[in-house]
Amino acid sequence: MTRSPRPRAYAPDPAAPGRPCDMPGCTCAGEYRAPKSRTELNTYWWFCLEHVRQYNAGWDFYKGMTAGQIEAQTRADTGWQRPTWPLGSLGKQAVDDALLRDPMHILHAGRIHRGGPGAPPPATHATPAALREPMQALGLDWPVSMDVLKARYKELAKRHHPDANGGDRASEERLKTINLAYAAVRQHLTAEPRMAAAG
Ligand SMILES: [Zn+2]
Repeated sequence: MTRSPRPRAYAPDPAAPGRPCDMPGCTCAGEYRAPKSRTELNTYWWFCLEHVRQYNAGWDFYKGMTAGQIEAQTRADTGWQRPTWPLGSLGKQAVDDALLRDPMHILHAGRIHRGGPGAPPPATHATPAALREPMQALGLDWPVSMDVLKARYKELAKRHHPDANGGDRASEERLKTINLAYAAVRQHLTAEPRMAAAG
């Protein structure tokens, strides 16, 4: 059996059974095939050009499928002969669900770290710029949990309290710095509870 190089889009199907269009009331030749349903891809309606176009336009191949099923179906279709009916008839909901699937949490990470799709992966262990000095003052490494921060602060506050150092002026300054650093880091952790949990 010889095959023509590549049939034109909407070229009459050579396998057409030679009967009239299946659209009720249409007397044109049914020269174009269209699968009857998703589960009957090998049984066809035979339509005239006008009616196969109408049918294709209304065909919703993915109707009733979940985003996961559509994904599986799309993968299964790879390498299969390109269907002649439009596949772009996905409902908006299905598309949204597919886009929201983000197993690597790339979208989420991108939002937090303001990285674009092409941006390098967020360096979760890099100290936020605003916290570099405070973290250094507290002698802590990023990331840090609220518990560790509080414990460290309590320890430093006790050690550098002027009362514990005979009213030493340097200790007083040191304590001020520690207070400011603690406040800055605590505020950051409170604003981003996700980071606090990560420590
Ligand atoms: Zn027709």
